[in-house]
Amino acid sequence: MKKRNTILLLGITSIIILTSVQVLIIRGIWKQKNEMFSLKYTMGAQEALYFINRRMSTDGFDTVRFVLSKYSEQANRELRMIKDTALLNQKKKEIFEFFSYSLNKEQDLSEMLAKYFELRGLEKKFIYTIVINDLDLITDDTVSIIHSARAKLPARPGIIEKMAAVDYAKSRILVNWFQMEDNYYRLRFDYFIDFSDKQKLILRESAAFLGMSIFSIVVVVIIFIIAYRNLIEEKRLSNLKTDFINNMTHELKTPLSTITVAGKTLEMPQVITNEEKILETARMIGKQSVHLNQLINMILEISMWERSQFELDKKNTDVGDLLNDIVDSFSSGGGSNATINKKYDLNGLKAELDPVYFTTMVNNLLSNAVKYSVNEPVIDIEGFRNENSVIFRVSDNGIGISKTDQKHIFDKFYRAQTGNIHKFKGLGLGLYYVKRIAEAHGGNVSVSSKPGKGSTFTIDIPY
Ligand code: ADP
Repeated sequence: MKKRNTILLLGITSIIILTSVQVLIIRGIWKQKNEMFSLKYTMGAQEALYFINRRMSTDGFDTVRFVLSKYSEQANRELRMIKDTALLNQKKKEIFEFFSYSLNKEQDLSEMLAKYFELRGLEKKFIYTIVINDLDLITDDTVSIIHSARAKLPARPGIIEKMAAVDYAKSRILVNWFQMEDNYYRLRFDYFIDFSDKQKLILRESAAFLGMSIFSIVVVVIIFIIAYRNLIEEKRLSNLKTDFINNMTHELKTPLSTITVAGKTLEMPQVITNEEKILETARMIGKQSVHLNQLINMILEISMWERSQFELDKKNTDVGDLLNDIVDSFSSGGGSNATINKKYDLNGLKAELDPVYFTTMVNNLLSNAVKYSVNEPVIDIEGFRNENSVIFRVSDNGIGISKTDQKHIFDKFYRAQTGNIHKFKGLGLGLYYVKRIAEAHGGNVSVSSKPGKGSTFTIDIPY
């Protein structure tokens, strides 16, 4: 148990470690791909700007430059007329918004960039953002600061660029910063692009790796589960074998010790002269030898069955007659204390059966029904025809079988873990025999039972 838990713990720990390592690797790769993506598009955009500049002699802001030039001359004039601070601020805000709006609306750069990206086989669906950093309206003698990003940042040299970079670097890619200037205004702004499909594009690129990694985790988990289940199964079988050897020793010892005691009894002077005592002891020795012989034969037979295919000697048998014989001889033998109700009326139904093995099979069920009962055993035997098969049912009013044990009782050497294992003697082979014999006849056996209420074994044999 301890060993099994250690193995389970080790297995789960290694799976967790493996998964964590994979997650770390995937995160690293994802980050790298993300950076590569940004780099690819930054470089692509830089190239595009260079290309646009050289080929078309524009930076993509010619239209907006014209619009702003006209507007700023007028705005400057109006601004200088306002004396009230509140109104002045209001006007500055208005000017800033106009600049912002025009820059976003009238620029041609985005379209040119998209075309260039398409030409280069890059993704062309992006969102652009223009962020104004500084805007001043100027005349010959005055400078009106409309907007200053720098003014809003802490006045510590060196930190400004860094902070600005942190602000925008998350998912946007900075294509370039621009400066525009004419007689009436001075403007500095950044142009960013952003890909809403970026995660999807990166996912597509890393799909193969992700798939492999998930696949390898799944494979390891499956291998572990299979190995662990095998281990448990082996452990269970080895426990069963140990139990079997213990039970077997116990079973063999009982007749042997009786024979030993009987032998000693025969040597006693008062017995040697008593003919009746000698006969009684000899009969006992004979009975125990038969029992011993039966036990040994059973073991030999089991090992023979394991090695070779089960061979039946099938005969066309009257099923009802055979059942009568079995029940009668059982009642006069080991089952004398049991009430057996014959609930079959097979109307001379004949089936291809091996009468010897069939008898062993039914006998095993009957003797279990007697063995595993605490009160006086009442056993019902049913037999009826069902489409292409004959169904036999042996029900008892015994101790019943738990759900967990029901799964294993037909396994070789399996014995239910009843409190006192030697209270009910056995080797865990009876039901294994029943199953093997039923299967050899092309049929099967099943159980339904409730602890404390009794059990019903059903055998289904085609005819
Ligand atoms: P054995 O009787 O030698 O232990 P079997 O293969 O005949 O081996 O039965 C396997 C186990 O199934 C038994 O140990 C017992 O716990 C349970 N069992 C079998 N038949 C009955 C029954 N009629 N009622 C209750 N338990 C049963």
